[in-house]
Amino acid sequence: MLIDYHTHHARCGHAVGSLEQYVQRGIEIGLTQIGLSDHMPLLHVDPATYYPEMAMPMEELPRYVEEAFALKEKYRGQIDVRVGLEGDYIEGWEEQISSIIREYPWDYVIGSVHFLGEWDISDFRQVHNWEGQDVFAVYERYYDAVAKAARTGLYDIMGHLDVIKRFGNRPDPGREEETIELERRALSAVKAAGIAMELNASGLSKPVAEMFPSRRILETAVQMGIPLTVGSDAHDPLKLSEHLDKARTLLYELGVRELATFEGRRRTMIPLLLTE
Ligand SMILES: [Zn+2]
Ligand SMILES: [Zn+2]
Repeated sequence: MLIDYHTHHARCGHAVGSLEQYVQRGIEIGLTQIGLSDHMPLLHVDPATYYPEMAMPMEELPRYVEEAFALKEKYRGQIDVRVGLEGDYIEGWEEQISSIIREYPWDYVIGSVHFLGEWDISDFRQVHNWEGQDVFAVYERYYDAVAKAARTGLYDIMGHLDVIKRFGNRPDPGREEETIELERRALSAVKAAGIAMELNASGLSKPVAEMFPSRRILETAVQMGIPLTVGSDAHDPLKLSEHLDKARTLLYELGVRELATFEGRRRTMIPLLLTE
């Protein structure tokens, strides 16, 4: 019962591999389910003048969905393909995001905060924006956006909950208690919304060298009873499920015995097994 619920492909402009290559790779490595979850097209910034290669152009979205559902049919019996979207949460753009989500019969939608205004905090080309910032204040804005995203009811899974740490920017140690409080408030919103959260292993390959979210956040999520799932955030078929063995082991250590899966936006829990 191996799953990977977070993947990207060439359409977004910064990943390689076709959807079918991911699906075939999933079969090769023994996944029972693969979630396709490419980035939502840019909405609030003009793709023509913004940083290039952030997400698929809007006109590609219907083709993405069509191709993904065709693969779901084609590989039925070999692997369960689940068709998803990594939907950015952008404060003030809830209506537009909602209409994109409503337009297609997704199996699931990941809610991710990448943007604080026009700043994509997950983009290495934009790290200069940290200069001169009060790191705690940025964390405050970020976790506030995560909580708002959860409350929209637009999403099934909250993505990489503490991705704000991606480039290693951390609040002053003297503000640790307050930082824990920010995390708790975001988690409470996730819990209240009744949605799941992912353990995204890609952080292990990022400057921060830690999964998203941290063990501390996961422990609280487990205590709160938030359903969890796992994703590699692969941007290359060869990196599909990278580090997910570590993700599963950590969850198991924390007492998690089930993972959340989705079809037609309905959640089903499946056993978390360390050995197949
Ligand atoms: Zn990406
Ligand atoms: Zn993301």
